[in-house]
Amino acid sequence: MSASHGQPGRRNMHVTSKWLLVISLALILWFGVAHVETERGRDDGARLEPPSYVYDLVVKLTNQITTGKHARAIILFIGDGMGEAQRTAGRWAAVGRDGMLAMDAMPFSGWSCTASANSAVTDSAAAATALATGVKTNNGMIAVDPAGRPLTTILERAQTRGKAVGLVTTTQVTHATPAAFAAHVRSRKEMLEIARQMIAAGVDVLLGGGEDEFLPTTMSGCYPQPGERSDGRNLIAEAVAVGYTYVCDADALAAVDPTSTSRLLGLFADEGMVRPFSPSLAEMTRKAIEILSQDPDGFFLMVEGGQIDWASHANDAANAIADVIGLDEAVSVALAHAATAPDTLIIVTADHETGGMRVDLVAGEQGPFYMPDGTPFYVSWTTGGHTSVDVPTTAQGPWADLLAGTYENTYIHDVMLRGLNWWIWMPTVLREGT
Ligand SMILES: [Zn+2]
Repeated sequence: MSASHGQPGRRNMHVTSKWLLVISLALILWFGVAHVETERGRDDGARLEPPSYVYDLVVKLTNQITTGKHARAIILFIGDGMGEAQRTAGRWAAVGRDGMLAMDAMPFSGWSCTASANSAVTDSAAAATALATGVKTNNGMIAVDPAGRPLTTILERAQTRGKAVGLVTTTQVTHATPAAFAAHVRSRKEMLEIARQMIAAGVDVLLGGGEDEFLPTTMSGCYPQPGERSDGRNLIAEAVAVGYTYVCDADALAAVDPTSTSRLLGLFADEGMVRPFSPSLAEMTRKAIEILSQDPDGFFLMVEGGQIDWASHANDAANAIADVIGLDEAVSVALAHAATAPDTLIIVTADHETGGMRVDLVAGEQGPFYMPDGTPFYVSWTTGGHTSVDVPTTAQGPWADLLAGTYENTYIHDVMLRGLNWWIWMPTVLREGT
């Protein structure tokens, strides 16, 4: 028998096995769908059993493939301390009672429960860890579990998918909220170590305050206070040596060419940024998106309105309101980007509420503040610390519909993970069966 005689047979076998594969896949899918439909009619707990989990997974993979819901880019906004009253006060001041902030006009909204692993009242470190890693930890801890073991963050998962990543804030870039996305330490106070880890992590765009955490005690950089690094390292010089562009004022930031810059470090204050913020949070967000969106694989960006919390701790309504509006301007920048890139998942949430703020028309502790139509309103406070109330979350883009309802803050991480890609959210499915 010559080789030519054997070829048609092999071709037939290829065709046959191809059809067998298609038919068996179709059977699996049909059986999977039918099975899950039955399971859902029963006790909800039954869905966690291994067989239904398998069928559930098949359905979810099919959904993902057929609907193509993949968030090529994710932009997470965190208003630190931004509870319901802060959002309402910002809305009344910016657009009045009948208006809507950009963050209010997003199609899906829900409530995030903020308790940490060891307290009903969270701090920013534990809350940011929950958002970044999907795991609740103790107050003060940065992307490690209560036993101190490092947790993989959504930013790191985006990096392994080849995406560009960025962190933007009005506090120090090493402050608790941004830190929990790119560093792993037992205490948020270890800001010098956090700075070292952030540069080592290769975060592509890092914008905010905190120059002092990057410079040795013998240097003062662009801002007057000397650095705080007792190890003598100049992390700004080290970043530039590995390819970062470094800027330290609004003009230099504006001059950065996004098409020729892939890594940008911008530090705009000794510590937290100083009012009026220059550059603004919106300007930093715009530049970050311009640079990160050059990556064909997409990007992950976290933007923090970090001083809503600080103003609320100080029971300073005017600055809290100004910072909610500043964050909303940054949200508008992201929404404008999403208008041309609809595969962008945008989420606006908070880590917790600060100050127990009350906003109403009756004369209160602070005010009057004015709506655009001249209506006066007042703000009062019940504490100088954090509160345990749920915080509003609004979202648009791929999988944003999953953020309707009330859920733990860790779930916001799980939705972002799902948005990244199906094989990446498999661990989430395994853990929660949801
Ligand atoms: Zn706080």
